[in-house]
Amino acid sequence: MGARKNDSDRRIGRRALLVGGAAAAVGTAVLAREELAHLWWRLPGVEKSRVEGAVDFRGARWLAASSANFRWADRPDDYSIDRVVIHVTQGSYASAVKVFQDPDHRAAAHYIVRKDGRVTQMIRELDVAFHAGNRDYNERSIGIEHEGFVDRPEDFTDAMYTASARLTAEICRRYGIPVDREHLIGHVEVPGTDHTDPGEHWDWNRYLKLVRATRTAAA
Ligand SMILES: [Zn+2]
Repeated sequence: MGARKNDSDRRIGRRALLVGGAAAAVGTAVLAREELAHLWWRLPGVEKSRVEGAVDFRGARWLAASSANFRWADRPDDYSIDRVVIHVTQGSYASAVKVFQDPDHRAAAHYIVRKDGRVTQMIRELDVAFHAGNRDYNERSIGIEHEGFVDRPEDFTDAMYTASARLTAEICRRYGIPVDREHLIGHVEVPGTDHTDPGEHWDWNRYLKLVRATRTAAA
């Protein structure tokens, strides 16, 4: 899962620079980073139309995350998407849903895959979810949580691998992301993170094979 407060501005994005320009025009010399973070997504044009309950992955159940746990965006038009970040919830599905709906959590992923293979989407792919603890990686990635604990290999079921691979294969096809370990990464591999998920029991070889096989079958 993403740590709270880690989506702070490690890098000022180009939209923030635009807001900075607008602020200068109205006479404010300096805007605190906090204020920029609250203003920059309000610029006209960043809101694509959203249909209540619509999902990006067919078969996923929609449950909205708190709007405090993601940022509206227009991906892939404003930020290209070239990474999928694999997470493990370190708790039950219900507890993950609960914190993603909690505005004080300040973190949430786009998807949660359960042990039985059911998929829940909580944030639209066009929006920037706060899941990686790194602003650049949040902007360029889709975050997928997996129900379970990193030290319990039995939590990573066949149904979970199969469903997650289908989801990732579709994401890779949609955004032209190569299916390899440079582009499909664990939270632990995000620069600057102190998180260890998905941990040593996550079978990357198996996962990549499944994603490739699913993509080939779909083609
Ligand atoms: Zn994580």
